[in-house]
Amino acid sequence: MIGVLSLQGAISEHAAVLNKIGVSNKAVLNQDDLKGLDGLIIPGGESTAIKKLMAYNHLFPAIKKLIQEGLPTFGTCAGMVLLSQPESFDMLKATVVRNGFGRQQQSFEEDLHFDALADPFHAVFIRAPYLTDVAADVNVLASIDDKAVAVSKGNVLATAFHPELTDDVRLHEYFVDHFVN
Ligand code: GLN
Repeated sequence: MIGVLSLQGAISEHAAVLNKIGVSNKAVLNQDDLKGLDGLIIPGGESTAIKKLMAYNHLFPAIKKLIQEGLPTFGTCAGMVLLSQPESFDMLKATVVRNGFGRQQQSFEEDLHFDALADPFHAVFIRAPYLTDVAADVNVLASIDDKAVAVSKGNVLATAFHPELTDDVRLHEYFVDHFVN
């Protein structure tokens, strides 16, 4: 059972991808919803809003503990921000640059190469972050110039873009196959 943190942002789109690939999932809105999860998706949206709502719903310390104890977690866009920030989940040692590619109007799409995928992944970037100064223990899976836009470390996978907004299910499959199962 994969939980989708359902406080703010692109929530239903992640659930739709999981449904499409036949992976059972449920919305995470409170601490009870965290019981028995095999994995967690932290969607894109607005990291400051998600952080405030996690605090308000008494979710922040509980989720942080689960992730730090090894719960497979996939963060997209704002989810990458939260996984990186030292004051948030502090799972990826790197400098996270929020809105690093500019504002809404500078949103863009780009085909990215992943070693693990046979063909490029068409990635949608919306007020996306990127990572720099990435620590040696963090795997950079895809980058644009010197900006890391997909990374993994241990139980954590993070992308600066929104894989749930295209028809391409391969990164969700990658998460389920390599991190959850
Ligand atoms: N800019 C947002 C943030 O910093 C992320 C944008 C997104 O998730 N599409 O939280």
